[in-house]
Amino acid sequence: MRVSGQCLCGSVRYQGEAEPRFQVKCYCTDCRKVSATGHAALMGFSADELRIRGDAKEYRSKADSGSDVSRAFCPNCGSGVFARVSAMPGMIFVRASTLDDPSIFVPQLTVYASRAPAWDPVSPDIPAFDERPPPS
Ligand SMILES: [Zn+2]
Ligand SMILES: [Zn+2]
Repeated sequence: MRVSGQCLCGSVRYQGEAEPRFQVKCYCTDCRKVSATGHAALMGFSADELRIRGDAKEYRSKADSGSDVSRAFCPNCGSGVFARVSAMPGMIFVRASTLDDPSIFVPQLTVYASRAPAWDPVSPDIPAFDERPPPS
């Protein structure tokens, strides 16, 4: 599918012809903090399928899982645009909030559902894990 998006000001853009490998809503505390709402909506792609333009700044932190997570945001307008996780090299997780056409995001899974605030309820129609899904 054609995938494109950008931050609020347009300094950071991405586009490509790519198929999502993961489409997930994450309610972990870190995603809540950085998302500006109750959860992050993330679409995972093979990183070589998307071309990123602009100088995103990255903030690194340790996830619950022990992985290093690098969250990229626009230094001009502050929008979070994409993330990378050390446990999944070669993947890039785009924030569905930045898509030009947000309807292409079809979440398949919710993680850290136990941390969802009452004002941002978990979708009842897709599988939800209280924390991380069991390793496959
Ligand atoms: Zn921007
Ligand atoms: Zn998360």
